[in-house]
Amino acid sequence: MNIFESQSYINDLLHNWYNVNKRDLPWRNTTDPYLIWISEVILQQTRVNQGLEYYNRFVERFPNVLELAKAEEDEVLKYWQGLGYYSRARNLHKAAKQISVKFNGQFPAKHNDILELAGIGDYTAAAITSLAYNQPYAVVDGNVYRVLSRLFGISTPIDTGKGKKEFSELAQSLISKTEPAIHNQAMMEFGALQCVPSSPDCTNCPFQSVCQAFATNKVPDLPVKQHKTKTSVRYFNYLFIRHEDNTYLQKRTAKDVWQNLFEFPLIEANKLLDFKELTENDTFKRIFSGIETVELTEKMNPIKHILSHRVIIAQFITLNISDCNNELDKLISVPLSDIDEYAVSRLMELFLEKLS
Ligand code: SF4
Repeated sequence: MNIFESQSYINDLLHNWYNVNKRDLPWRNTTDPYLIWISEVILQQTRVNQGLEYYNRFVERFPNVLELAKAEEDEVLKYWQGLGYYSRARNLHKAAKQISVKFNGQFPAKHNDILELAGIGDYTAAAITSLAYNQPYAVVDGNVYRVLSRLFGISTPIDTGKGKKEFSELAQSLISKTEPAIHNQAMMEFGALQCVPSSPDCTNCPFQSVCQAFATNKVPDLPVKQHKTKTSVRYFNYLFIRHEDNTYLQKRTAKDVWQNLFEFPLIEANKLLDFKELTENDTFKRIFSGIETVELTEKMNPIKHILSHRVIIAQFITLNISDCNNELDKLISVPLSDIDEYAVSRLMELFLEKLS
């Protein structure tokens, strides 16, 4: 299929398909760039059903840029809890502050200005400029890569510079100049509902007669990725310390997974430690030095927690202590009844759910 000759043919089919099949979602009924931005960032990391719940809660609490900019980061992270990729929430907050200072609280409309905001890359900038301001910037997300690679039979790996350039030029050449907002939404919705990653329903696809991947039997092989993501495994031994009705938390401040979230004191090691190994561990000795009684009462079955590039194997060890020391005073002492007020990782949340 010649790309340029087929542009209007593809767009007509795509837009017709979208009119019939699109889902009614709240961010589709607005041109407010703030709401579109929030929905796009949430949807980059979760499915629509779960994302909808987070979106509604988030925009109810932070209905506009200024409310988000005014909030404390800890509260923003709390509203993000469970979604993962917490750097995105931190960047939302940072960008809201940038907008409130540099643009007087008004969401910028220029593509270049939007691209300067924290955490906003090509995809999000194109989504905001097209959906909110109807400007012809093509979005290229995972759905669009899949649809275009199959439709045009392109096997250039999508995770290479060459592939990114090729697909973004192709997407840009196809975008409707008169209806860019509808075009982008239709392309993404088509990838999400029809041209899905595995076993798409090609028999009932409007593009079947022109789809190169279908014609050459390559649907399962496209799109191509060159690099397999390397996964590292880490072992987290969490100490759930109980002293009267309190426990202890610390904030993860390092540039690492779950930055700025709260957690129990942690001993990261090259394996899960048994009781004897724990008590011989230097960090353990430091935390509990001088405390008269440290009673290890329970060890929860290990949890395997999978993140994008790493697997965390964790265990939670419950300890009762008789008194405190200077080391524990450096941590945050929290009544168990108040622990829900702290933003924690999904892994911590799973443990806390079992407690209640
Ligand atoms: S025919 Fe199949 S592979 Fe091709 S666009 Fe349609 S759903 Fe995707």
